[in-house]
Amino acid sequence: MKVDVIVIGTGQAGVPLAARLAGAGRRVVVAERKALGGTCVNHGCTPTKTMVASAQAAHVARTAVRLGVRAGRVTVDLAAVVDRKDRIVRQWRDSVGRRLRGKGRRLTLVRGHARFVGPRRVEIAGERYEADVVVVNVGARPVVPPVPGLDGVPWLDNARIMELRRVPTHLVVLGGGYIGCEFAQMFRRFGARVTVVDKAGRLLATEEPEASAALERVFRDEGIRLVMRTKARSVSGGARAVTLRLEGGGRVRGSHLLVAVGRRPNTDDLGAEAAGIRLDAKGYIEVDERYRTTAEGVYAVGDCTPGPQFTHAAWDDHRILFDLLQGRGTRTRNDRLVPITAFTDPQVARIGLTERDARARGHTPEVATKEFGEIARAVETDRRAGTMKILLDPKTETVLGASIVGAEAGELIHIFAPVMVAGVSARAMVDAEYVHPTFAEGVQSLVMSLERYAIE
Ligand SMILES: Cc1cc2nc3c(=O)[nH]c(=O)nc-3n(C[C@H](O)[C@H](O)[C@H](O)COP(=O)(O)OP(=O)(O)OC[C@H]3O[C@@H](n4cnc5c(N)ncnc54)[C@H](O)[C@@H]3O)c2cc1C
Repeated sequence: MKVDVIVIGTGQAGVPLAARLAGAGRRVVVAERKALGGTCVNHGCTPTKTMVASAQAAHVARTAVRLGVRAGRVTVDLAAVVDRKDRIVRQWRDSVGRRLRGKGRRLTLVRGHARFVGPRRVEIAGERYEADVVVVNVGARPVVPPVPGLDGVPWLDNARIMELRRVPTHLVVLGGGYIGCEFAQMFRRFGARVTVVDKAGRLLATEEPEASAALERVFRDEGIRLVMRTKARSVSGGARAVTLRLEGGGRVRGSHLLVAVGRRPNTDDLGAEAAGIRLDAKGYIEVDERYRTTAEGVYAVGDCTPGPQFTHAAWDDHRILFDLLQGRGTRTRNDRLVPITAFTDPQVARIGLTERDARARGHTPEVATKEFGEIARAVETDRRAGTMKILLDPKTETVLGASIVGAEAGELIHIFAPVMVAGVSARAMVDAEYVHPTFAEGVQSLVMSLERYAIE
């Protein structure tokens, strides 16, 4: 069958792109082999943040006594937490289905695995489709590390851990990145003992060292054991106990093992070769700044391309590519800022460069830091943990990067976004008035900690 556009995958870029292209009058076929909505809706952002909210509630109740409130003994009903999560996931998944079906005959959803059988020719569920434009949005899945013995134990990934209905007695988390950290703290707050093992020297190793240190302090205070700079040598065990043997001796025994050591693109069974799509050494689809793959008329978006793997990045991919396909685009995937947030408590957020990356790129930034505990709001609400950092380009006074660890850091980081996108001086943040007492006021204080903006 010949159509105008084929979209492979109903991820965070594919769905809005398909719907808008159909709305613009193109005949679109969308392929999905699993649940509608992809990782974010089914096994990523939505379920994790829903469960993080339950963990946060348990923590607040458990620690309310600090604010003079006695909440009694706190217990977590994980089955109820998971049922609530499933309800919310179902709502979002259903809304994806409604959005796609709402486009009538212009958009056909085909359930099944899609595979290229030639240039711009795709087979889905035994049918062949051909189109002028094919957009690949196949996402990524967890990396399975080559740790001897892993295939013999019932290890958990990000999807399976969110199906547990009883709190593990001792969760061992292999990997201290965003995903590992969010689950580690979540399950600690649900009542499990938790040990994190990572070969890196610190949690969230790509973030500012100050950010890692602030988070590690909180994790240790909450009783999470951190085994850093340590590789797993082998794994053994069964349904009730898992033992991780560590390089350099030592072992960690737990009841459950979560593996969260990274993601890999879903490109191995895509038929990329038949289409003429080049993959890089890690299997990511090579694209230029306009999302063009090496195959004419074939574009790739989201986590299957090299770059930051976030829902907002994939969603932004869709709007840049939509404009380009409609012949009116000016933005490209190269000229954008992708903020990040780890939804731990305190949250860890960053926009732009870290100090190490800024210096590696030849900048000599002016740097200021401020402890979160100096913010009036943080003291009043007793959410003092964290730290903030800003990097300023001394010549242009523009912000090169900012990092916040603290309450609502994922919200606060957006204060920097318009200033950075507009390329205006950070003085705008100094001259603006901020409500007292807010956490945002603390961000202004951070900027005013730069020597050039300091007031005596
Ligand atoms: C635990 C976890 C937590 C996360 N939390 C956050 C967060 O808080 N914030 C954030 O911004 N990001 C978060 N992410 C990342 C985010 O989920 C992804 O970046 C986002 O889903 C974008 O993915 P995508 O659109 O590229 O593809 P996906 O959402 O992965 O969708 C790809 C779709 O393609 C389908 N597919 C694959 N191959 C084929 C094929 N050959 N034929 C047919 N269909 C196919 C898949 O079944 C899938 O439905 C999290 C990820 C994880 C794992």
